[in-house]
Amino acid sequence: MTKARSAAQQRAIEQIETYGSHNYHPLPVVVESGSGAWLTDVDGNRYLDFLSAYSAVNFGHSNPDLVKVAVEQLGRVAITSRAVYSATYGPFIQALATLCGKQMVLPMNTGVEAVESSLKLARKWGYEVKGVPEDQANIIVMEGNFHGRTISVISFSDDDDATGSYGPFTPGFLKVPYGDLDAIEAAIDEHTVAILVEPIQGEAGVITPPPGFLPGVREIATRRGVLMIADEIQSGLGRTGSTLYCQQVGVVPDLYLLGKALGGGVVPVSAVVGDEEVLGLLRPGQHGSTFGGNPLAAAVGLAVVRLLETGEMQARSRDLGAYLHERLAGLVGRGVTEVRGIGLWAGVDVDPALGPARAICERLLDRGIIAKDTHGQTIRMAPPLVITREELDLAVDALAEVLAEVSSELGLTPVG
Ligand SMILES: *Cc1c(COP(=O)(O)O)cnc(C)c1O
Repeated sequence: MTKARSAAQQRAIEQIETYGSHNYHPLPVVVESGSGAWLTDVDGNRYLDFLSAYSAVNFGHSNPDLVKVAVEQLGRVAITSRAVYSATYGPFIQALATLCGKQMVLPMNTGVEAVESSLKLARKWGYEVKGVPEDQANIIVMEGNFHGRTISVISFSDDDDATGSYGPFTPGFLKVPYGDLDAIEAAIDEHTVAILVEPIQGEAGVITPPPGFLPGVREIATRRGVLMIADEIQSGLGRTGSTLYCQQVGVVPDLYLLGKALGGGVVPVSAVVGDEEVLGLLRPGQHGSTFGGNPLAAAVGLAVVRLLETGEMQARSRDLGAYLHERLAGLVGRGVTEVRGIGLWAGVDVDPALGPARAICERLLDRGIIAKDTHGQTIRMAPPLVITREELDLAVDALAEVLAEVSSELGLTPVG
C-alpha cells in the first residue's frame, strides 16, 4: 500500500524548503495531526511513528491525559516568569525530585539548556566546593557524544557537520573514547570537575556501553572527587524500560539531565536534577530562563511524572521492547548487519550493499512507517511506548519487505 502524496502536499514541502533554513533533511511528508502511535499527513494518509520526535513523544501523540492538563492550564495561566512563584511549580519539582531520588530541580526548556546549565553548575561546584583555581576547570566528555547545539556544547562534539565554521570553541573539555574507563582515569587531573556521559548514546546510533562502564564511571568519579553527570534526555523517562537507564545498572549519578519526553510531547520542558550540594549553589541572578519552569510546563511535567509513577510505560517498553528486539534479530543476515539497544529503542544497521539507510527509510515511508536514519547506515527506531505488539509487527514486516525488495532489485541473494 504505497502512500500517494498530492500536488498540494508537494507544494507545502516546497514552501518549507523555500522559506525555512535548510538545517534538516526531513522525510517527504507533511504531517497534519497525530494520535497515539500514528501520524496523519495533509492528504489523510496514516503513518506509524517509529521515531516519536526523537523520544519527545514517548507517551504518544496528543496523549489525552496530558492534553487535558495542558488545555486546563492554558485557560488558567501559562507564563508568569520566575519573578513570582506559580502554583504548579512546587508540585512539579517535588514530584520530579522524588521520582529521581534527588533533592532539587533546576527547570529549563530545551535539552541543550539543561546540558549547559549542568556544565555551569559543575564549574561552580569545582571552584566553590572542590577548590579548583579560577578558570582552570575541565570536564571529561565522550567521543561520539550528542548533547545539543549551542556553541559550548558543540565545542566538544566530534561531528564535523555540527562543528564546521562555528569556531572559536569553548575550552575546558577533554574527550575520551566512549566505554573506556582507563582513558577516563588517565584524563582526570586535579582540575577536573565532572564527567559528562550519555548512559546510551542515542544520536550516535543507539550505542549501549560495555557492561560495567557506567558503574565504573561512578566509581572513578567518587574516588577522584568529580561529579558524574548522566545525560538521560533521550534514554530517560521510560524509553529503555525503566524510569532512568542508570537505574538498570545500579548507578546514581550526581546530576541527571532530562528533557524531550519530560514535556509529554506537548511543550518543551527540561531539567537538571540533583542534590543540594550542587544545585543549592545557585543564588538569585546567577542563572535563569524566562520560560524555565513556567506554569504550563510545570503542569504538563507533573502529569508526566504522575504517569511514570505507575510504572505502566516502563513495563510496556520492557515487554514490547523484548519483542521488538526478538523480531529485529531475525533480520540480521537479511539486509541487517547489527541491531543494538534496549526497550523500545533500537539502532538497526543496514547492510551497506543495500545502499544508505536514508533510502530504506524513504521506502518505509511509502509503506506508512516513519523511521529516521542516522550516520549513513543506521535506522533509529523509537516508537511511542503506547504502541501495540500488532503495530510493532506492521513496522518490522514492512522493514523485512523493503530489505527483500531492495536486495532483489540489486540482484543480491538474501542470506539467511
Ligand atoms: C536531544 C538531546 C539533547 C538536546 O536536546 P534539545 O531539546 O534538542 O536541545 C541533549 N542530549 C541528548 C542525549 C539528546 O538526545
